Amino acid sequence: MDDPTILDDPSPGSPPPISSSASLLRDEVDALIATRLSRLRVPASLRAIFNARAAARRRRVLSSWCNWVAGFGLISLFIGWASVPAGRSAFAMYSSIAVTLAFLATAQIIRRRLLDRAGDSVISFPVTLTLFLSLATGYASGEATAFLIYMIMSMALVWSSITYLDIGFPVTLGIAAFATICVAVFTMLSVLPGMPEKLLLLVFLTVTTAGMVNARRVQNLYAARMFLLQLRDELRSSEMADLNTNLARLANTDRLTNVPNRHFFDARMAAMQANPILYLPLAVCIIDIDNFKQLNDRLGHLEGDRCLQLVAGTLRENLRAASDFVARYGGEEFVLILTQTDVKAATQLVERLRKAVRALDYGNPGTAAGYVTISAGLAFASGTGFDARQLVETADRALYRAKAAGRNQVCT
Ligand code: GH3
Ligand code: MG
Ligand code: MG
Repeated sequence: MDDPTILDDPSPGSPPPISSSASLLRDEVDALIATRLSRLRVPASLRAIFNARAAARRRRVLSSWCNWVAGFGLISLFIGWASVPAGRSAFAMYSSIAVTLAFLATAQIIRRRLLDRAGDSVISFPVTLTLFLSLATGYASGEATAFLIYMIMSMALVWSSITYLDIGFPVTLGIAAFATICVAVFTMLSVLPGMPEKLLLLVFLTVTTAGMVNARRVQNLYAARMFLLQLRDELRSSEMADLNTNLARLANTDRLTNVPNRHFFDARMAAMQANPILYLPLAVCIIDIDNFKQLNDRLGHLEGDRCLQLVAGTLRENLRAASDFVARYGGEEFVLILTQTDVKAATQLVERLRKAVRALDYGNPGTAAGYVTISAGLAFASGTGFDARQLVETADRALYRAKAAGRNQVCT
C-alpha cells in the first residue's frame, strides 16, 4: 500500500467499484458450482470460454486419434485379406483405403483448423463412414467370422471415440445412436445363425455403448465443474487485485481535494531519494493559501472547503508532465514535486501556478488582495543525490520568506 508507484495520479471521484459485470459473472459461476453435478448446464457464454481454453488440447487429442485410426485402417487391409474370401475381398480393400484416407484427411483438417467452426462434429463424418463401410464389408463377406471381426472393429472404433475423445455430449450421442442402428440392421441381415443369439448380441452391444455414453456424460460434467472452479478462483483473484488497488487509492488520496495526500508524498519522496538519478535535477515547492483562516471565518468552512478543492484542481491542471505532481501537505498547504526541472523552469512554472490561482478571482473579503492568492517556497536539488527532509525544510523556509515579504509571491 505504501508503494508510491501504485498511484501516479489518483483520478478524481470515488474509487471505481469492482466492475458489476465481473461480480455478476462470479455470482453466476458460484450458482453453477452449487448446482448438482447431474443438473449442471454450462450456459453458452461460459461454454465459449471453456471451449476456447480446451481447444488446443482437444485439437491435439482429436488429430492424434484420427492418425491412430488411419493406421488401423491400413492394418485392416491385412485383416480383410485374411478373413474375407478371396472372391469378395475387393470391397474390403477399397473400404480400408477409404477409411485410412478419411481419417488422414480429418487429422489434417483438425490440425490446420480448417473446419474450426464445426467443432467436435468434424469427427462424425469419418466415424460414421467407417462404421458403415466396416459393417458392410463384414456383411458382404458372407462369412459369419468375418462379419464378427468387422463388427468388433467398428464397435472398437465407436467405443474408443466415446471414451478417449472429450467430445461434446450431442456428438457422442449422435455417434452412439448411429452405431446402434447400423449394427442392429447389419446384424439382422447378416449370415449369423439364430435370431435369439442375434438379439442377445445386440442387447450386449447396446448396453455397453449406453454405459460408455453415460461415462462420457459424467466425464464432461466433471470437466465443466473443474473449469467453473478454476474460473471462480481467477475471478476471486482479480477481485482481490481490484480491491487492493482501490484500497491503495483510498489510502493515498486526500478525500477533500482528490489529489494525493501527505502519506503518498512522503512515500514518493522516499522512493525518489532511493533512486535520485532518475529524477534530478528536482524542485520541491510548498504552497500555502494566503489568509485562509480569514476566508473560513468570513464565508464559513464549507466555502473554505470549496476553495481548497478549486485551488487543488488549478494546481494539478497547470502541471506539465505526468512525473510532476501535487499533493495536499496538510490544512491549506500543498506540495509539488517537479522532476528533471532546473531552477529557471521550476520558478517559471510555480509563478504560472500563482497567477492561475489569482486568476480564479475567488473572493477573500477583508484581505489586502480581496481575492484568494497563494505564496510558494521553492527548494532545488541537483548533482547525484538529495535529502528529502532537508529539501522540504528549505522549501518551508522559502515559503516563510514569501509570507514575510507580503504574500502572493514565489520565493526560492
Ligand atoms: P497565512 O496567509 O499566514 O497562511 O494565513 P492563514 O490564515 O492562511 O493561515 P493559518 O494557519 O492561520 O490558518 C489556516 C486555516 O486553514 C486554519 C484552518 O481552520 C484552515 N483549514 C485547515 N484545513 C482545512 C480544511 O480542510 N477545510 C477548511 N475549510 N479549512 C481548513
Ligand atoms: Mg498554513
Ligand atoms: Mg495559509
